[in-house]
Amino acid sequence: MATVSPAERLLLQLGIKEPGDIDLEAIAYSQGAFVKFRPMDRCEATIVGNARHAIIAVNSLSIPQRQRFSIGHEIGHWLLHRHRLLFCTSKDIGGFSRDALNPERQADDFASDLLLPSFMFEPSIMRIRVLSLQALDDLTGAFNTSRTATLLKAVKCNRFPIVMFRDGLDRRRWSWPSNVVSPRWRARDDLDPESFAYELLHGGGTGSTPVRKVGADAWFEFRGCQHEEVREQSFVSVPGEVITIVTVPESGTD
Ligand SMILES: [Zn+2]
Repeated sequence: MATVSPAERLLLQLGIKEPGDIDLEAIAYSQGAFVKFRPMDRCEATIVGNARHAIIAVNSLSIPQRQRFSIGHEIGHWLLHRHRLLFCTSKDIGGFSRDALNPERQADDFASDLLLPSFMFEPSIMRIRVLSLQALDDLTGAFNTSRTATLLKAVKCNRFPIVMFRDGLDRRRWSWPSNVVSPRWRARDDLDPESFAYELLHGGGTGSTPVRKVGADAWFEFRGCQHEEVREQSFVSVPGEVITIVTVPESGTD
């Protein structure tokens, strides 16, 4: 096994071996933190604690997978950033800041490792040849996690030749390539108005698109990219945000 992260070490210490056994309230309790659920406004979760005990409050209005990620995030704060009072907004939790020293990013990484530990996740993806939305949904069902968090984990496993794009009505785009995608395939920093993802984003729906082949220049910019094709599939992750899985051909891998 590669390096074991603090969250994975905690799971191993507690003897948790199956995705279905990742009971976050029980894990929090084992570390001295009680989890409470209550409706919250503009806030996903908070943690308040003294030296030994903490109370994690989670927004009961959020979807269950989001609540699970929030609890994982707050357990991360409890174990990594004790003695700080933190109010975590929906932007903080699952925002996956690029700054590895940012406490919000560290808590997100902790939550990802706790909910989708490599020692359970990697054997699960070995059986998948192509990462379609259907395959992603099989994983989210097994791990009880959101599509976004699960896809990000799959990208980081560097097994599939994919790039994950996030586009929002806020016009903010970020993209995350797996290491097997050639660095020559530079992601565009704007959403093509002709793309199906654009239509999905501005249509106000909650659906997804089928897998489609499109010209690579819809997503990438490099010399000769108009001669290449990629497969794309998009889904609405939260209202106002579309995530696209773009699979590059073999010529786009290293
Ligand atoms: Zn936080």
